[in-house]
Amino acid sequence: MRVTINDIKKHFKNLGYKISLKLHHKSLLIQYKDGPDPHRLNNLATYFFGYNTRVINEGCCIVILKKFIEIGHKEVKGICNRCGCQEHDACYDEQTGSCWWVEEDLCSACATPAEKEQAIEAMKEVNNNSKLLS
Ligand SMILES: [Zn+2]
Ligand SMILES: [Zn+2]
Repeated sequence: MRVTINDIKKHFKNLGYKISLKLHHKSLLIQYKDGPDPHRLNNLATYFFGYNTRVINEGCCIVILKKFIEIGHKEVKGICNRCGCQEHDACYDEQTGSCWWVEEDLCSACATPAEKEQAIEAMKEVNNNSKLLS
């Protein structure tokens, strides 16, 4: 899959972020302009580009594009693909508390009710199966 600068801009725009992108040799500079949280932008960039991302400071990172094209971004685990939260940086809500993993890369704060329900059903099934085994 070939990713263009416009694809990247659109991807982050859909997540609520305005960014500036600068190509420099084989790397890409991503800078936060506006959006929910500059710190989470770094996480979302890591999710998108994989561990080819180097964080410079909050809301600013560099992506080594050559490596991104070679490896892709499939190796990243533990980052929500919609808000960029992580295990040690969970979303918090007064009523429901900290978010939890609905899927490997989707947290409960971002999941739709239907997505959450599906995950709960799947968990129940696992619980039932383990009861049968014991
Ligand atoms: Zn999330
Ligand atoms: Zn979350």
